[in-house]
Amino acid sequence: MKTPAKILIVTALVVVVAGAIALKKTNTPAATNTVPPAVATTGSAEASAAKETPPIKAALPTLLDLGADKCIPCKMMAPVLEELKKEYAGRLNVEFIDVWQNPDAGQQYRVEMIPTQIFHDAQGKELFRHVGFFGKEDILAKWKDLGVDLKGKASSGIVRETPVAADTRPRDKICFMCDGDINPKTMVVVKGKAEQRLLCSPHCYFIYLSSLVGADPKTEEAKVSVTDWATGSLIPAITASYLYGMDSKGRPTIKAFAEKEAAVKEQQTSPGNIIDWELLRSKELSTRCAFCDRAVYPEDACVVKFGTTHGYGCCTHCSMGVAARLKQDIEVEAKDGLTGELIRVKTLDGQIASLEPPTAIAWFGQKKNAEGQWVSAGCFKQGFFVNEANLQKWLDARPAMTGREISIAQVLADKMKLSPEQIAKACKLGECK
Ligand SMILES: [Zn+2]
Ligand SMILES: [Zn+2]
Repeated sequence: MKTPAKILIVTALVVVVAGAIALKKTNTPAATNTVPPAVATTGSAEASAAKETPPIKAALPTLLDLGADKCIPCKMMAPVLEELKKEYAGRLNVEFIDVWQNPDAGQQYRVEMIPTQIFHDAQGKELFRHVGFFGKEDILAKWKDLGVDLKGKASSGIVRETPVAADTRPRDKICFMCDGDINPKTMVVVKGKAEQRLLCSPHCYFIYLSSLVGADPKTEEAKVSVTDWATGSLIPAITASYLYGMDSKGRPTIKAFAEKEAAVKEQQTSPGNIIDWELLRSKELSTRCAFCDRAVYPEDACVVKFGTTHGYGCCTHCSMGVAARLKQDIEVEAKDGLTGELIRVKTLDGQIASLEPPTAIAWFGQKKNAEGQWVSAGCFKQGFFVNEANLQKWLDARPAMTGREISIAQVLADKMKLSPEQIAKACKLGECK
């Protein structure tokens, strides 16, 4: 193993002027036109398959920047890369490798000075490389020179920054958690200091509970009222009886009753078990998202396989996050948001190793926060689709939805760059950024 000690740093003045730092020459492999694998291979069948593929498996052009976190021109590159990544999501892969932390990569890519930017076409062929700081406009001009049209057809990812039609539902008819319509027969009300939260069902309440940071369940539960299925009036959640049944798809249904006799009566026409709040809570919290820890029904979830076991991702984006949280290769089985068709994603060392079907894409549901920045609109607004046509149909049925189409590789890349602290706060109410 080479160590960072082998890397030469030129004086700070030269660094700023020349915008580059020399790397000590090592035995570099003969120059070729193809991209060496970015991942360490282990000799397994999957790993050798990865050898022939570019570092980014999605069929997009890639800008790869090789630098280090403490080199000044490298630091200057960081915001440029970040902007390109955001503005050209779904059209250009933007990657960064720290060659001080990962000296083998410097050698693999024959990097002698940092920062070095390597331009790869969608097939992974190197088109051009540049040494030193490279500004955003210069990078874009270079792609144009190289004949890569970042605004062309392959780049026509769907972007919707303003709703096609505004959501005209009154606020008291919208579930705080899932944004779905509130059925007045299953509504849950959580009393807050200033305002109350309305939820569509006890299930959404438990998702809410599992999204709170450091909440004491006993304190929280005292604030909760559920709707009596028999009378429609609000009753304390902790003393109600619950008829816990199942719909035709095997998904749990929950009806609350103030009087146990009323639950028994309902049970005669609508089968299920009558349970108390304690048991309902333990059932509802028994399956958690392997990324964000939210309560989830397996019927609604993505299956995430890792090692010899499996877990669930509460949404498609969370499912990819499991690779980041566990630092492990995963296999995800997600369903197309429109048709339910299977989408299978395998990761290898934090990158996409295979995607079935290869046309599959992701929708990143976003909304503008108070500061005017685009942020995730939450787990209920994310999805994978076998192709763009399905995404378009799904969006047509959701005129109030905003966000953008991104590649599944980008979903994974966004999760892989999260720190353990960010992962611990992922999807938590008030913490999710
Ligand atoms: Zn809901
Ligand atoms: Zn989740």
